[in-house]
Amino acid sequence: MRPYKNKKEYSRYLLERLYQEADYPLTAMEVCGTHTVAIARSGLRELLPEKIRLISGPGCPVCVTDDADLDYAIALAREKKVVLATFGDMMRVPGTTSSLQEEKSRGAGVRIVYSPTDALVLASENPHLEVVFLAVGFETTVPAVAVALEEAIQRGLKNFTVLSLHKLVPPVMEALLEDPEVKIDAFINPGHVCTILGSEPFQFVAERYGKSCVITGFEAVDILEALLMIVRQYRENRPAVEIQYRRAVRPDGNPVARAFIEKYFIPVPVRWRGIGEVPGSGLVLREEYAEWDATRRFSLSVAPGKRRGNCACGEVLKGLKLPYECPLFGKACTPVKPVGPCMVSTEGSCAAYYRYGERKVGGAI
Ligand code: SF4
Repeated sequence: MRPYKNKKEYSRYLLERLYQEADYPLTAMEVCGTHTVAIARSGLRELLPEKIRLISGPGCPVCVTDDADLDYAIALAREKKVVLATFGDMMRVPGTTSSLQEEKSRGAGVRIVYSPTDALVLASENPHLEVVFLAVGFETTVPAVAVALEEAIQRGLKNFTVLSLHKLVPPVMEALLEDPEVKIDAFINPGHVCTILGSEPFQFVAERYGKSCVITGFEAVDILEALLMIVRQYRENRPAVEIQYRRAVRPDGNPVARAFIEKYFIPVPVRWRGIGEVPGSGLVLREEYAEWDATRRFSLSVAPGKRRGNCACGEVLKGLKLPYECPLFGKACTPVKPVGPCMVSTEGSCAAYYRYGERKVGGAI
């Protein structure tokens, strides 16, 4: 970066290099919702050479939550004395027949919190209530939930439980690579998740599937630099897992955070919206902490519902469709009146495309 006066000048250089060096059509998936937003906000997609196609992936934790899991959360919120504590983005996500917001307006116990610790405080201040923390998120957010659990266990707080809908990123990337419908040449890997995981758990992408993988930061200049790394791997036929986001990510990630996750959680197969069941891609509480597991405390059986509407979120999350290729985009489905979770969440692809007016892929410099 030293020879360049500023990021703008460096970005221009990177873009020029991309135009010079991207001589094969290449499809790269940004796995993380924060990258999708950064790309949309900076208008990067439209500045890139036609040969580079960026597609969004299953990187928004709210969007990938399956209908059946939402239905379960809604059923829990309807239980007497239960308060379901959740992040604001989850409120308007439609389940098969309702949403948490609709349930709240009908009197169900739903409360917006900003962290698992807020839910813990809510439980300790309201011993007559059962506070369930609805835990969504990828590897990045799990350590904070583990910290809250540890505190609840140490304090013997028995009215605090966790509904773990956490998802793990490497298994879903493998599921996408195994899907014959999905065509991906390279991944722009989530920087935040990789601060925990490092680069090691992604080696299979290059070694077994021969695809490139670059772990990237969240500024436009980071993404451009990552794309140039991908293009160079591609030209040299040298698929590898590389770290562009060196200021935050080490090859071995954060072993302390990972050990903390493993202390409380164990991987299980779970369903992803639009993708289906993915082996080892979810986390549940270990047997010894069953008392703090909402699914074991309140063993409810919820009948499977039928999805409403014809939302294309599943195809968007797999990169098979761009948001504006959904017939409802911007018409029946807008951030004010969302039909699917990809338009609800601030990190959802549809919301990002809508907010920043993205309509096409590729363009002139
Ligand atoms: S535009 Fe709306 S209905 Fe279409 S895929 Fe996106 S969220 Fe679903």
